[in-house]
Amino acid sequence: MNMLYKSTRDSSKRVTAAQAIAQGISEEGGLFVPQSLPVLTQEDLERLMGMDYIGRAADILGRFLTDFTEEEIGECVSNAYGGGKFDVKNPAHIETLREGSYMLELWHGPTCAFKDMALQLLPHLLTKSAQKTAPRKTTAILVATSGDTGKAALEGFKDVDGTKVVVFYPGDGVSLLQKMQMVTQEGSNVRVFAIKGNFDDAQMGVKKIFTDSEIKEKLAEHDIQLSSANSINWGRLVPQIVYYVSAYCDLVSSGRIKAGDKFNVVVPTGNFGNILAAYYAKGMGVPVGKLICASNRNKVLTDFINSGIYDRQRDFYVTASPSMDILISSNLERLLYELEGCDDTVIKSYMASLAKTGRYEISPACREKLSELFYAGYLDDEGTMRVIKDCFEKYGYLCDTHTAVAVGVYEEYTVNTGDNTPTIIASTASPYKFPSSVLGAIGEDEGTDEFEKLNALNKKSGVKIPKSLSELKTKPVRFTDTCEVEDMPESVLGYLLG
Ligand SMILES: *Cc1c(COP(=O)(O)O)cnc(C)c1O
Repeated sequence: MNMLYKSTRDSSKRVTAAQAIAQGISEEGGLFVPQSLPVLTQEDLERLMGMDYIGRAADILGRFLTDFTEEEIGECVSNAYGGGKFDVKNPAHIETLREGSYMLELWHGPTCAFKDMALQLLPHLLTKSAQKTAPRKTTAILVATSGDTGKAALEGFKDVDGTKVVVFYPGDGVSLLQKMQMVTQEGSNVRVFAIKGNFDDAQMGVKKIFTDSEIKEKLAEHDIQLSSANSINWGRLVPQIVYYVSAYCDLVSSGRIKAGDKFNVVVPTGNFGNILAAYYAKGMGVPVGKLICASNRNKVLTDFINSGIYDRQRDFYVTASPSMDILISSNLERLLYELEGCDDTVIKSYMASLAKTGRYEISPACREKLSELFYAGYLDDEGTMRVIKDCFEKYGYLCDTHTAVAVGVYEEYTVNTGDNTPTIIASTASPYKFPSSVLGAIGEDEGTDEFEKLNALNKKSGVKIPKSLSELKTKPVRFTDTCEVEDMPESVLGYLLG
């Protein structure tokens, strides 16, 4: 079957997967969504259980990217997940936290966060998509990052022919190691800017550039087209669906659950991409039970899921889990489109209201569906530190600050609901990405700089330090530019045309 994509703000639109990926976002500002979800039968799932991660990824991707040949997809997934890029055999590796609670470790890739799961693959999908839709053009990837996407995109796209990457990160809103990862990035086609603003400012700035027809024309004169490596790009979400399917297969094959048994999924959430992928996996027939959405102190999603009112007019906090410091969760638009029965008019009115007043309220019917599917909770920094300590002391498991938010909210969920369904908790970053917080949480404050802290954490936990982090110490800094939010278009044009 041929799979086409429509836009959340124009249901009559039809584009191919290659177009959706090459473009990143629809002209009128909507996000691309599949016309329908492919369904995995019991036999399909059993077949997938016999495959390795690369095989599973090829199978799932093939169902969504029907304008790609089998060979093309095979090449993309082998390049992304093979060749030693991940330091484990199964990139979506499962560890047991305790009986019935399992950590889905998604951070074994080159930049030590789950973003690698998608961003090691996206450059391959994107270059093939560009070849299909606009050969000879250069694709310029604009990235707004709350910390991890920027580095993962830089690493995925560095020196990829026909692409350039521009990353904007909040100057005061990422961890020191996250920043060092970005400013030391190698590659001849990359550029990194710190902005004077937070992630939402960066994301809005990038979205504005995408929908600016003057900029588009200027770039077109130079055979450059823009695309996105943020999770607004469909090419970011598909690879994330794979690991939830794969996790189910592994839970069954390892005897942790029986075929067809439900399992809950807990996701530390910011832009709503990761948890949306779990929702799609459920829609495809994977027996996912509750989707548990965990936020930090920027709890706009917790309030939304519990009240039906999305209200971004609130203080913004810089927390110990910076990759979740977000008040405008882009991917929620995709979920609401489904829950509102694919009514683009309703979505447009919500988004217009969000832009104008900073809030919107969903219909009662939509709210009911939302609370059937999701549970939402949040954890502040103090709670996060407590969970890191407890997890380490009780289970010998070292969580990063984001993952700890998920574990804490999950604990609250089991207490509040008594639901003991087996549960997968998305472990989204290596604890070594946030050494100060993690070391402080387990009661040590050894070491004065980040690298001494890496060593101290290693001594204490015995967990291996990823080489890509320890080697940052001696890497030269390449990018020191700072830019005002208003100047983002000039910075982009300056780099791409200059
Ligand atoms: C990006 C990120 C998140 C949030 O994921 P979303 O898909 O934006 O909801 C959580 N944890 C870490 C470590 C991240 O990098």
